[in-house]
Amino acid sequence: MTTYYEATATPGLRLPPLEAAAEADTVIVGGGFAGLATALGLHERGVRDCMLLEARTIGFGASGRNGGFVSGGFSLDAAKLHRRVGREEARRLYRMTEAAVQCIRSRIERHAIDCDAVYGGVIVASWFDEDHSLHELQRLMREEFGLHWQWLPREELRERLRTRRYHAGLHETGAFHFNPLKYALGLARVLLSAGVRLHEMTHVRDIRRAGGQWEVDTGVTTVRCRRVVVCAGGYLDGLCRPLARAALPIATYVMATEPLGARLADAIRTDAAVFDTRFAFDYYRPLTDTRLLWGGRMSIRQRSPAEIERLLYHDLLRVYPQLEGVKVTHAWSGLMSYGRHSMPQIGQLEDGLWYAYGFGGHGVAPTTLGGEVLARAITREEEIPAGLRAYGLEPVYGKAGLLAAQCLYWSLQARDALLDWWH
Ligand SMILES: Cc1cc2nc3c(=O)[nH]c(=O)nc-3n(C[C@H](O)[C@H](O)[C@H](O)COP(=O)(O)OP(=O)(O)OC[C@H]3O[C@@H](n4cnc5c(N)ncnc54)[C@H](O)[C@@H]3O)c2cc1C
Repeated sequence: MTTYYEATATPGLRLPPLEAAAEADTVIVGGGFAGLATALGLHERGVRDCMLLEARTIGFGASGRNGGFVSGGFSLDAAKLHRRVGREEARRLYRMTEAAVQCIRSRIERHAIDCDAVYGGVIVASWFDEDHSLHELQRLMREEFGLHWQWLPREELRERLRTRRYHAGLHETGAFHFNPLKYALGLARVLLSAGVRLHEMTHVRDIRRAGGQWEVDTGVTTVRCRRVVVCAGGYLDGLCRPLARAALPIATYVMATEPLGARLADAIRTDAAVFDTRFAFDYYRPLTDTRLLWGGRMSIRQRSPAEIERLLYHDLLRVYPQLEGVKVTHAWSGLMSYGRHSMPQIGQLEDGLWYAYGFGGHGVAPTTLGGEVLARAITREEEIPAGLRAYGLEPVYGKAGLLAAQCLYWSLQARDALLDWWH
C-alpha cells in the first residue's frame, strides 16, 4: 500500500538497523512526529547521547501518511476541553498547540526542510444548512482562546469551493498544510547531523528494568539507558501493557488523484485545506502539483487500497460531482491512537519511563507540543501542565472497546445523516 507521500519523497535516508549492544542516555521508541519532536526538544535543551529506534522506517506510521493539516487544537473538541479543565487551563493548552504550529513553521524555515508547505490556512465548511454552530465556534475561538477565525459567507465560500454541499465557512488563516513524510524525513536529517543515533527496522520487543537503569530489547540486541520514551502511536501493539491498555488503534483513509491540471479549478479555487462540520467529516486539500488529496472515515479495520478508493471516491463525488472520471493514483490507510477521552496521553509511568501517544486524528501540532512538554519535564525545566495530566491512562477494554468505538462511530454517522435530512 504505497502512499502518495512515499511515492514522491526524496530517496536517500537509509538508517541502519541496530545490530550490536549499545548504551545511551535516552532511548526513544518510535520515529513518528512524537518521537522526532521529543528527540529534537531534548537536543535543543542540551541532552546528548539520544538514540531513536523505529520498527519500520521514519514516518512509517500516522505521521508520514496523514492529511497534512497543521492546525491548533486537539482531537478533543475545544468546547469539551473548556468544560473539563476550565477556562484558564483550556486557554493555556490551546495556545500551546498554536505555538506548536509556529514551532513547526519555524523548524521548516530554520532547517530549510523542503516539505511542500502551503500557508493557505484551513477552512471548516458547514455541511448543514444552519449557521448557529459555526457562529458559536467562531465566538468560542475569539472569546475563550483569543483567535480570530474569519467568517466566510455562503456566496464567498461557494466561490472558493464549487459545491452546493456547504452553507458557510470559517477560515483559520494561521494554519497550513504540508507533505508530512517530507517533514518527518527532514527532522530525521536534522537529528542525524546533530549526532542523534537513529535506527530503522529496529522493533523494540520489551522494555525492562535492569538495576538502576532500563534495558530496551529489540530481539536482536539490547540497549542500556537511563531513560526510555515510548512514542509508538497507534502501532504500539502491546508494547508496555499499561500504555497498550489505555489506547485503541483506529484506522482512517486517504487517497490522491492524478494531477487535475485546469480541472482542479472546476472544484476548488483556494489553496486552503478543507474539512466539514460533520462528526464523520471529509478532509482534503489541493496539492502543489494540482492533485487532490482526499481523506475521511474512521474504522477499526484497515482496508485494501481498492476498497478505500471505492469509499472515498463516493465521498468525493458527493461533494464535487463535476470531478466524475478523475483517476485515483494512490489510496492508503493509517492508524491513529485514541484514548477514551481523545486527548494526548503524556507522562511518566515509572522513574525514567516516559510516554507520549494518543494524539488521535488531530496530532501534527499536538505531537510537537508533546515533544516540547516531555523535553521540558525530562530536563526539569517545567512540569507537565495540569490540564494534560488531567487526561490519564483510562482503560479502553481491548476488543470490546474497539467494537464500542465502531458502534459509536456508526451512531454518530447516522446522526450526521439525520441532521442532513432535517436541515
Ligand atoms: C490517515 C491519517 C490522516 C491524518 N490526518 C491528520 C491531519 O491532517 N492533521 C493532523 O493534525 N493529524 C492527522 N492525523 C493524526 C496524526 O497523523 C497523528 O496523531 C500523529 O502523526 C501521531 O504521531 P505519533 O508519533 O504519535 O505516531 P506515529 O506517527 O504512528 O508513529 C509511531 C511510530 O512508532 C513506531 N513503532 C511502533 N511500535 C514500535 C516498536 N515496538 N519499536 C519501534 N518502533 C515502533 C511505528 O512504526 C511508527 O513509525 C492523521 C492520521 C492518519 C492515520
